[in-house]
Amino acid sequence: MLAAAIFAVMITAQYLLPKRGQSGVGPSPESRSNPRSQPPILVNSQGKKAATGPVATLSRNTKRNGRPEDDKIRAMTDDKVAELGAQGAVPLYSLEKLLQDPARAVKVRRKVVSRYECISQSNFSLEGSHLPHEGYDYAKVLGACCENVIGYMPLPVGVAGPLNVDGTRVFIPMATTEGALVASTNRGCTAINAGGGVVTALLADGMTRGPTVRFRDLQRASEAKAWLDSEHGYRSIEAAFNSTSRFGRLQSARSVIVGSELFIRFKSFTGDAMGMNMMSKGVEKALAAMVEGGFEDMHVTSLSGNYCTDKKSAGINWIEGRGKSISAQATIPGDVVRTALKTDVDTLVDLNRSKNLVGSAVAGSVGGFNAHAANIVTAIFIATGQDPAQNVASSSCLTTMTKVGEDLQISVYMPSIEVGTVGGGTILGPQQAMLDLMGVRGSKEDCPGGNAQKLARIVASGVLAGELSLCSALAAGSLVRSHMAHNRK
Ligand code: ADP
Repeated sequence: MLAAAIFAVMITAQYLLPKRGQSGVGPSPESRSNPRSQPPILVNSQGKKAATGPVATLSRNTKRNGRPEDDKIRAMTDDKVAELGAQGAVPLYSLEKLLQDPARAVKVRRKVVSRYECISQSNFSLEGSHLPHEGYDYAKVLGACCENVIGYMPLPVGVAGPLNVDGTRVFIPMATTEGALVASTNRGCTAINAGGGVVTALLADGMTRGPTVRFRDLQRASEAKAWLDSEHGYRSIEAAFNSTSRFGRLQSARSVIVGSELFIRFKSFTGDAMGMNMMSKGVEKALAAMVEGGFEDMHVTSLSGNYCTDKKSAGINWIEGRGKSISAQATIPGDVVRTALKTDVDTLVDLNRSKNLVGSAVAGSVGGFNAHAANIVTAIFIATGQDPAQNVASSSCLTTMTKVGEDLQISVYMPSIEVGTVGGGTILGPQQAMLDLMGVRGSKEDCPGGNAQKLARIVASGVLAGELSLCSALAAGSLVRSHMAHNRK
């Protein structure tokens, strides 16, 4: 979340927002560096070119200096406010604060964007486009989920199931535009239910944040590591970390030294939150405790030093786990494999060995020992307000299949499912409805963390169903046929 916040600020500051006194309309970065480049072209509300060059510059400066009072702007028509926006008198990002009406701010922003030369000179009209903007609760978005909002992106949401997960039937919501994905997962659910359902095991639950800190030299970095590894040092950072949250409970702080730099991977329980914000707060305090503990010379290069590792492929998440580590298993009767999945146990076991184990090994995969875990993970993430970028580690999965008697035993091992049921996108109404569908919305008051853990178990179970069905389709040679049926009109 911190990384996301920093990224958002960078984007906001550098790319999306017109500089003060500029409309942001006009030349590309290349032509900006050319002193002979043409002045920006402004377009007024009628879509006609407005005055450009020195005249426009003067009028913009005048507007900026003599910008009307905020309440006067609020009383203007949307078009008039948009004109001020296009002239740079009202920054694009400030519309919500200025207008004090989030829905109106979105409407006006679409008008401002439409006046930018790159849009107005094209055949595309944002205002008249299919990107919807009405009927959305923007108040929840503001300051939490998105900036510079121009609407919302509707996606189809399907359900697979109900799937029997640890003795409870649950519908799995999937937001996707990939035809056949939900149908295929649903088929997997049917086959799994016929064998009694999925059994899951939570192996670990801890989010991580790995800052990079620098010392004078290796000797000093080693002293810091020794202190961190000592009972006294660890207790000091643990107390500091835990003081920042009702839920955060530090579990470990393993570290490595590279030259003069120390990378510390803090790991903590984060209740029902996915936990990145919680981790960032706690780690900041823990590092302050290190300084107080005798390391005043420590320089914090970055609160996130990629030793976390968040949203990047990394072996450490595969080996050590991140978020929830889950194993899930189901047994499918041999006759169900034949009737529902149109293949047989021996063929499936051989296909899984060759494709998901040997094939992935040949490809040098880290955590990619599966057919399409990312498909199910990402569809559930989008439907339930998870951070879709965390599909990188969350989709790491090892799928195994064994013949037991006449039946198929299938399992998935997923060591880094990064999910939460509070915070982030889970505060939005539609996403909450999908968490409600599975009975995992919000904070589990009697047992903090219980909702997020159950969600992770459901994600792994959905992946199990997806793996079973896709591998069966490949084994039966029906993959192309079913995609043609579900993917092509
Ligand atoms: P994240 O840490 O995943 O980025 P947020 O910081 O957005 O999430 O949300 C966590 C917030 O929710 C914290 O302020 C925390 O105190 C609050 N909270 C309420 N109930 C819970 C719970 N059961 N588990 C974790 N956090 C909770």
